[in-house]
Amino acid sequence: MSVHLYNSLTQQVEPLIPRDDKRIAMYVCGVTPYDFPHMGNARTIVAFDIIRRYLEYRGFQVMYVQNFTDIDDKIINRANEQGVPWQALAERFIAIYFEEMDALNVQRASVYPRATENIDEIISLVQALEEQGYAYAADGDVYFEVRKFARYGELSNRDINDLRSGARVEVSERKRDPLDFALWKRAKPGEPSWESPWGPGRPGWHIECSAMSLKFLGPSFDIHGGGPDLIFPHHENEIAQSEAATDGKMFARYWMHSGFLTINKEKMSKSLGNFFTVREVLQRYAPEVVRYFLTAVHYRSPLDYSDQTLDQAKSAYERLHQGALNMQRVLMAGVQAPEAAPERSAALRTAVDGAEVEFQQAMDDDFNTPRAIAALFNLVSEANKLTGDADFVPDAAALTALSDAHALLLRLAGVVGIVLNPRQEEGGLTEPLMSLLIDLRAQARADKHFALADAIRNRLSEIGVQLEDTPQGTTWRRV
Ligand code: AMP
Ligand code: ZN
Repeated sequence: MSVHLYNSLTQQVEPLIPRDDKRIAMYVCGVTPYDFPHMGNARTIVAFDIIRRYLEYRGFQVMYVQNFTDIDDKIINRANEQGVPWQALAERFIAIYFEEMDALNVQRASVYPRATENIDEIISLVQALEEQGYAYAADGDVYFEVRKFARYGELSNRDINDLRSGARVEVSERKRDPLDFALWKRAKPGEPSWESPWGPGRPGWHIECSAMSLKFLGPSFDIHGGGPDLIFPHHENEIAQSEAATDGKMFARYWMHSGFLTINKEKMSKSLGNFFTVREVLQRYAPEVVRYFLTAVHYRSPLDYSDQTLDQAKSAYERLHQGALNMQRVLMAGVQAPEAAPERSAALRTAVDGAEVEFQQAMDDDFNTPRAIAALFNLVSEANKLTGDADFVPDAAALTALSDAHALLLRLAGVVGIVLNPRQEEGGLTEPLMSLLIDLRAQARADKHFALADAIRNRLSEIGVQLEDTPQGTTWRRV
């Protein structure tokens, strides 16, 4: 089988046939850097990280473009509230975004264009739309005339005549029709602005993604993705602008949308106030666990966020992780049975031989991570039958099977971004060293060396480790 994916445009699972043989051009709408990323943002970014990683594993060369909307009302308002320049605010949250996505093992995109670095391209695109009669200028603003684009509504399955200027459609007296949307916004006093043929202003939100995707990927690129809330109007508008400006050339060949991250079945979002930042969650759960949580569910299914669902992910992750550690322990001990008895490890050998095919079949079928991860659990449970058996004496055949199983497990988990050897680079020393320091501090206090005890706590705090004294003893966490 080849890679198949669900195309939101046709609402069908289709084979992926790239524009250019083994190259995939993919664009995903990124974040507006005005605050800490929340788990809903991470959900979508991780979903497309999985897709990108799997396509690379399948031998495609992926050119992955993800934008930053680095100028917008939210950025301007937040910068004004904090009394900082808007550029400094965006810069700060872009840096934080990278830090946190790195922690979640999100591979960097090929390029991260920013709206403000592509103003010329945006202006050219708006001009092209104006010349071709799809856009009109009105008092320093420029609008796209939705009724001129016959296919408007195809992605979101909406009939243009049913669309009313509701909550999501901005009303303005400068528009000819409430459905029209802003391509260029005239500058308000005191706001950042750029010179343009229509006077000083700044781009509307939708146009930046058309300009940047066409610039970096050209027309008819392969995959356009984003969160489910972007289908309408953002992606609908992107299609209209881009196809109108390129003589009706198809804009993106496949449209992909992740499922929502919800809380009590409601979308997690800043505006509803029901959000948890990635940072907060990483203080309570290891990054590998959070990544697992976001990976183990199919990218299009809703994922409900709660302590319970995170705890479930934690224990599932630990079962996989422990399985890998068990294999490692036996492998390190080496051969103990002189006679080879292949029948003892035959079931594991069969599991090893079948696991990659199972994994691939699942992932080829619209990136079905739950089924792919089930194939990994299957491998672990076969290995556990040997490693968990007190009477098991490993022979050469068993060790080869275990070694293959171990390597395969780590490799396939890595294809979906799950890390099973998280502390390898430190040789697993963090826990024992932390408990040594905690013991030394307790001893210092018992000996009334309070200055030394405080110094231990303060030095740890300087490197981002906080000690907490509880009735059950002292614990530590990263801050
Ligand atoms: P924003 O910074 O709000 O523009 O969002 C950045 C990305 O995160 C977009 O692709 C959104 O669709 C996505 N996103 C925001 N909230 C959620 C959520 N609760 N579940 C899934 N994706 C989300
Ligand atoms: Zn976009």
